[in-house]
Amino acid sequence: MSRVLVIGCGGVASVAIRKCCQADDVFTELCIASRTKSKCDALAAALEGKTKTKISTAQVDADNVEQLKALIKAFQPDLVMNIALPYQDLTIMDACLACGVNYMDTANYEPEDTDDPEWRKIYEKRCKEEGFSAYFDYSWQWAYKERFEKAGLTALLGCGFDPGVTQAYCAYAKKHEFDAIDTIDILDCNGGDHGYPFATNFNPEVNLREVSAPGSYMENGKWVEIPAMSIKREYDFDDVGPKDMYLLHHEEIESLAKNIPEAKRIRFFMTFGQSYLTHMRCLENVGMLSTTPVQFEGHEIVPIKFLKALLPDPASLGSRTHGKTNIGCIFTGKKDGKDKTYYIYNVCDHQECYKEVESQAISYTTGVPAMCGAMMLLTGKWNKPGVYTVEEFDPDPFLDALDKYGLPRRENRDPVLVD
Ligand code: NDP
Repeated sequence: MSRVLVIGCGGVASVAIRKCCQADDVFTELCIASRTKSKCDALAAALEGKTKTKISTAQVDADNVEQLKALIKAFQPDLVMNIALPYQDLTIMDACLACGVNYMDTANYEPEDTDDPEWRKIYEKRCKEEGFSAYFDYSWQWAYKERFEKAGLTALLGCGFDPGVTQAYCAYAKKHEFDAIDTIDILDCNGGDHGYPFATNFNPEVNLREVSAPGSYMENGKWVEIPAMSIKREYDFDDVGPKDMYLLHHEEIESLAKNIPEAKRIRFFMTFGQSYLTHMRCLENVGMLSTTPVQFEGHEIVPIKFLKALLPDPASLGSRTHGKTNIGCIFTGKKDGKDKTYYIYNVCDHQECYKEVESQAISYTTGVPAMCGAMMLLTGKWNKPGVYTVEEFDPDPFLDALDKYGLPRRENRDPVLVD
C-alpha cells in the first residue's frame, strides 16, 4: 500500500508510470503531476481499466516550491518521484523536506540558466578545484544530506540506467565478484535506428548539453579532462555488433569515485553514429546549442530551447526505432589474490519496449529502474535517512526486481577489455 506522487510526464515518466501500474500491489495510488496537465490526463486515460492502481492527475510548476508544497500536502504521498528535469531537483527536494516526504530522481542537479552569476561563481570555483567542467555535479544535492538525515527521510539520487543501474552493477561486482576493483568502464551502446538524420533519445536540451561538453574520467583519484569526443574506441557489443564509442563525462563517475575509492580508473563511453556527431557539431558551430538568450525579431529566445521545439519529441520515437541497446560495466580487479575481469550488462530491444509500453528503449531503460528504485524505497528494502546514490544500497533486491520487470542482467567472465 503506497501513495506516490510522480512529477513529470515525458518519455521516461510515462514508462515509469506504466511500470508502476504493473506492480499495483506496491503502487496502490499514483498522482501524476506535470507542467502540462493534458499529458497526465491522456496517460491516466490510457491506463484506465488496465491496472488496480488508482490514478489522479494535477498541474504543477515544479520550479515553484510553494506550489509543490501545496500539492504534496493535498496528496500526502509516501514518496515523490522526480522525473521532470534536472533543473527541478533542488526545488522538489526543498518541498519534500518541508513536507516530510521521501524523494528520488533520475539525474543530478544542473541549472537551467548557466549564465546565472551566483551559480556561475560556485561553478567556476568547482571547475578549478575539482578539474571537470560539466554543468552538473552532485555537490548541490549532497549538501542536503544532513537535512534529510535529521528529518529521517531518504533521498535516492540518479535511479535510471546510467546513472542508476550501472552503479548497482558496481555494488554487485564489489559484493559478489571482487575483493578489490581496479578499473571500471561503463559502456552505453544504443544500436537503435529511428530513421531521422538527427534526433535525441531523451530530453534534447539535457542530452545535447551532456554530449557537447568536454569528456573526463577519474584516474588515481583525480579528474582528467579531454576535449569533447577526443577519445574514441570501437567495441563489439553483444546482440548489437561493432560500434564507435566516445569517452564522456558522466555523473556516476563522481559518486563511484567516492564510494569505490580503490578503483584506480573509472571511465564512461557512449556510442554515437556519424550522422548524430556531424549534426551536433554543425549545430554547435552555428550557436544552436547555446543556453544564452538571444534577441530575435523582438523576442528573446534561448537557442537550445528553440532547437528542442524543432526536433522530434523523444517520446514519439518509439514506433519507428528498431534495434537494441546494450549498457553495462566492465571491471578488472582481484579475487582471492588472482586477477579477474567481469562484465555485467543488459540488452534491451526498442521494438519489444514499444509493444509493451509504447516507448523506445532509452526511456524504457530509465523508467524501469526508476520504478524498481521506488519499489525498493516503498517496501523498506532501501531506506536509510540521508541522501544516497544507488551504489550505496544493497544491489541484490534491485537487480532481482530489474530481472523481473524487463531489464534482466547478463554476465561475461571473460570480456574483451577496452584499451
Ligand atoms: P522529457 O522532456 O520527455 O520530460 C520532462 C517532463 O518534465 C515533461 O513532462 C515536462 O513537462 C516536465 N517538466 C519540465 N519542467 C517542468 C516544471 N517546471 N514543472 C513541472 N513539470 C515540468 O524528459 P525525459 O522524460 O526524456 O527525461 C526525464 C528525466 O530523466 C531527465 O531528468 C533526464 O535527464 C533523465 N534521464 C535519465 C537517464 C538515466 O539513465 N539516468 C536517461 C535519460 C533521461 P512538459 O510536458 O510541459 O514539457
